[in-house]
Amino acid sequence: MPTYTAPTRDTRFIVNEVLELAGYGNLPGFEMVSPDVTDAVINEGGKFCAEVLAPLNLPGDQEGCTRHPDGSVTTPKGFKEAFDQFREAGWGTLSAPEEFGGQGLPHVLGMVMEEFISSSNQAFGMYPGLTNGAVSALIAKGSPEQKEKYLPKMISNEWTGTMNLTEPHCGTDLGMIRTRAEPQADGSYAITGTKIFISAGEHDLSENIIHLVLAKTPGAPDSTKGISLFVVPKFLVNDDGSLGERNGVMCGSIEHKMGIHANATCVLNYDGAKGWLVGEENKGLAAMFIMMNAARLGVGIQGLSMAEVSYQNAVTYALDRRQGRALTGPADPQAQADPIFVHPDVRRMLMDAKAFTEGMRMLCIWGALLVDLSHKAQTEEERAEADLMISLLTPVIKGYGTDKGYEVATNMQQVFGGHGYIEEWGMSQFVRDARIAQIYEGTNGVQAMDLCGRKLAQGGGAAIQAYFKAIGEDIAAAKGDEILGPLAEALEKALGQQQAATMWFMQNAMANPNHLGAGAHHYMHIMGIVSLGWMWLRMSKVAQAALAAGTEDKAFYEAKLTTARYYMDRFLPDAGALRRKLETGSDSMMALGAEAFATAA
Ligand SMILES: Cc1cc2nc3c(=O)[nH]c(=O)nc-3n(C[C@H](O)[C@H](O)[C@H](O)COP(=O)(O)OP(=O)(O)OC[C@H]3O[C@@H](n4cnc5c(N)ncnc54)[C@H](O)[C@@H]3O)c2cc1C
Repeated sequence: MPTYTAPTRDTRFIVNEVLELAGYGNLPGFEMVSPDVTDAVINEGGKFCAEVLAPLNLPGDQEGCTRHPDGSVTTPKGFKEAFDQFREAGWGTLSAPEEFGGQGLPHVLGMVMEEFISSSNQAFGMYPGLTNGAVSALIAKGSPEQKEKYLPKMISNEWTGTMNLTEPHCGTDLGMIRTRAEPQADGSYAITGTKIFISAGEHDLSENIIHLVLAKTPGAPDSTKGISLFVVPKFLVNDDGSLGERNGVMCGSIEHKMGIHANATCVLNYDGAKGWLVGEENKGLAAMFIMMNAARLGVGIQGLSMAEVSYQNAVTYALDRRQGRALTGPADPQAQADPIFVHPDVRRMLMDAKAFTEGMRMLCIWGALLVDLSHKAQTEEERAEADLMISLLTPVIKGYGTDKGYEVATNMQQVFGGHGYIEEWGMSQFVRDARIAQIYEGTNGVQAMDLCGRKLAQGGGAAIQAYFKAIGEDIAAAKGDEILGPLAEALEKALGQQQAATMWFMQNAMANPNHLGAGAHHYMHIMGIVSLGWMWLRMSKVAQAALAAGTEDKAFYEAKLTTARYYMDRFLPDAGALRRKLETGSDSMMALGAEAFATAA
């Protein structure tokens, strides 16, 4: 049975020491954030996830969800009780606005909790996770009545939320949506159509489910410009807040899928269901993007989460399992064999995992701080700067974070040898669960195109220029320092590769847009590599200062500096290879016709 311990020490290091969250006390929601408060949330949240959610992960995978003939769905044994505990402890309310019953704490703490939840039980985490996305869309675009009616109960997790975009014939290309919304005399709409792959679409965890649904009104343009967003509750809500009639939305089936078995992935049939327009007609995609941006960061965290939990189990196994001898001579001559931990190839996999997860955690938590600052920083200029940076980084956190998260999970399975392939060890589940994060919330191919096709050009290149400038300043400040200098110089070279790749796109992609499409995945990975390198430089600076100040936790900070060196040695050189691939453009990639792909017998 796999185990999980929330990485609270590392999280406290990032939150309290690197980002110095308590230093933002002048911003709304941050007043009550002292290191004592953040430590209490981090430690108690970690304990809840490790003790309540993690033990349900493997059995939940084995049992899965069950759909009954009446269309109702039950989650695996123990999920309902755990969700009740989650709700009663208020874990879902951490960073939600106080005016709707939330605790109003920084998004940073909500994000930390998302990592712990997802590591301990990704399928469970998706029930409150999708609710958070729906809450963000309603906060941004809902009418005052809609906010009052739905938000308090969604934030308290008495009700949960879903997002309904996908239909059988359209996933990425939402302009083709066929679900219809017919205006009714009472101001509501009758929603009819079929949505597929709807996570948490039906279940027994909450008394009501609030679906946010994309649909088209009569005569709407036949493209993404004709999409509107509707709120469609499973049970209609009376004016006094009590639950009324069952609405015309039913779960037709649940998918049998590769992973996240304990999360119900539903086909939802809407048959004249009563819905209400959220925001303006034909502006639904913009509203849905608010939800998706929040959700994309949450999915990036899933990459980190799966890497972390699979890494923890691989470390335990590598220290315990004995096979062969160390290349440099027996490490434990008394025993018949050494632990596999002594083999450089095993260590390579473990160090890759450690360097990725710790760097990625820093990027995600800093990303969450940027979200906070984009809403709450004191000046309009600071808010705009934070917004620009997080909007640039979101596809990288989602796309690079989940590609690497999956890669780490498979490498950690590899550490187990054949035992990693056997279900009872749990490593197979981590790999299967990690895989979906590369696909949903916009596939990683779509993230790469969002980064290269939209975000690089955003504000005339203002976002990417601000990013280059900020890294450049940190590199300049570190150069010349005995420990930080070599790290900064390595990062500078990788940054140069990213700048050259950016320039290549500027010079070549206009003439042939396929060049952009052909290199977008590589660019997203270059930027992921550089971004984590930057995070390692920032963490190293704090570690070095702690060591210079004579910290008692020497081993922790020394490990940070060593892991930073490993990261610079082993991750950054890939930026150069990826840039060279990117600069070959699309010619050989797009040259063959469809007939050349057919297998000749
Ligand atoms: C377990 C699970 C849970 C899900 N949960 C939800 C949910 O809660 N709500 C919801 O609405 N949906 C959900 N989805 C749907 C998911 O978001 C879509 O599957 C995903 O967006 C991809 O759409 P598609 O499957 O139709 O693939 P397609 O759009 O058909 O894409 C197929 C391939 O083509 C590529 N491609 C397509 N268009 C382009 C392009 N323009 N440029 C480059 N490459 C392109 C894609 O990257 C992909 O590799 C879920 C899916 C699964 C499997």
